[in-house]
Amino acid sequence: MTAQIISGTEIAKQIRQELKQEIAGLRDKYNLIPGLATVLVGDDPASQVYVGSKARTCEALGVYSERHDLPAETSEQKLLALIDRLNKDTRIHGILVQLPLPKHISEANVLYAIDPDKDVDGFHPVNVGRMMIGQPNYLPCTPHGIQELLFRSGVKTEGAEVVVVGRSNIVGKPIANILLQKKAGANATVTVCHTATRDITFHTRRADILIVAAGKPKAITADMVKEGAVVIDVGVNRIGKTAEGKAILCGDVDFDAVKEKASAITPVPGGVGPMTIVMLMLNTVKATKLAVGLA
Ligand code: NAP
Repeated sequence: MTAQIISGTEIAKQIRQELKQEIAGLRDKYNLIPGLATVLVGDDPASQVYVGSKARTCEALGVYSERHDLPAETSEQKLLALIDRLNKDTRIHGILVQLPLPKHISEANVLYAIDPDKDVDGFHPVNVGRMMIGQPNYLPCTPHGIQELLFRSGVKTEGAEVVVVGRSNIVGKPIANILLQKKAGANATVTVCHTATRDITFHTRRADILIVAAGKPKAITADMVKEGAVVIDVGVNRIGKTAEGKAILCGDVDFDAVKEKASAITPVPGGVGPMTIVMLMLNTVKATKLAVGLA
């Protein structure tokens, strides 16, 4: 069997189109322009790339965006003061603090300081709790993107055996939680594996849907996958550079071997990655509507 390739690039393009129309409608009907503020502390090159692409996406979709790029030595107090200001700014509906932060700043203090109504990353404990009890305002972007990829590719999650490899707060735990909910596009039986799992292969081979977010290049080999499974590879690993100095990326799944066994699989790049940013835009639009009672 050669797997259907689930293209995050294509699905993200469709969602961008839908959002563009919705944003134009908000502007024309209600004179409402969604606003996103990004906050970056320090000069980590990967973070700069992520923040830059968020700003470009905002511009392409008609979202007002503000970049706050601060030097690495910025104090926590100064950062908290900026967040307080953005919380009160009515042009700003969503605030995104690019992680990781420098070591002298408490990530928890900063994330908790964001108004939960503007927490478009979905990392504030209020939003994590709401997700947990099935009443989310904002779902975290990467796991929400995975759910949307499955849904729009026609993959049935209801009653499916889903195995998640990885239990981080930004991918593994939330995707497990989202797919566990008694809702359409979820309602799965979910198992979560991690480094203390005794026999990972025992679990992965049972999976109808295998979601891998371990951050280990090609950790999932073909013998670990059930014939006909749907495989979602969240991993983004930089395994070298091209002659032109561009990063060579690979996922957590041995794509070439696993695609011969799976029924559907996401590539890296071009799978989960492009979905994360459109789900951020979707959350920003939702925040805008919530702010004026339209959602
Ligand atoms: P993380 O915080 O490092 O967590 C990795 C998780 O995987 C941990 O729970 C760890 O277990 C588990 N793990 C690691 N090696 C394992 C193994 N051999 N077997 C079983 N479990 C293993 O990583 P993350 O932030 O979730 O990110 C995971 C990957 O997704 C990374 O490559 C990251 O770059 C990528 N990512 C992509 C996007 C996107 O938009 N495409 C977004 C976020 C992350 P323990 O808890 O026991 O340590």
